[in-house]
Parts: sequence; structure tokens; C-alpha cells
Amino acid sequence: MVMSRRGKPLLSVQGYTFCKKNEYGYKVRWVCSTHRTKGCTAKVLTYNNEIIEIMNTHSH
Ligand SMILES: [Zn+2]
Repeated sequence: MVMSRRGKPLLSVQGYTFCKKNEYGYKVRWVCSTHRTKGCTAKVLTYNNEIIEIMNTHSH
């Protein structure tokens, strides 16, 4: 996990960058960083910083 320049947590997976969306205890839901600008629906679920679920289909 890396931090953006603004201090927001980001996740880098296979060359794509994901932004933190929701947090449920140790579980974190990440959405593609272009979710808002391009409507990409790719997402990742991590548990304790390990990827447990990934939907890495990007529209860009
Ligand atoms: Zn994407």
C-alpha cells in the first residue's frame, strides 16, 4: 500500500491504482482510481492488507 501525495491511501495492483472506499474493521474495499472520472468498476477487497477478492476488469 502506498500513500498519495495528498496522504490518501492507495493500492497498486497489476499497474492499476485503487483508492480506499470503505473500511470494515480489517476489511477494506478499494475502487479503481478512475472510478469517479471514468466510471471504472474494478474493485479489490483486502483483509489485514492482503488481497482476498479482486475484480480487476478495467474499462480503460
Ligand atoms: Zn480501472
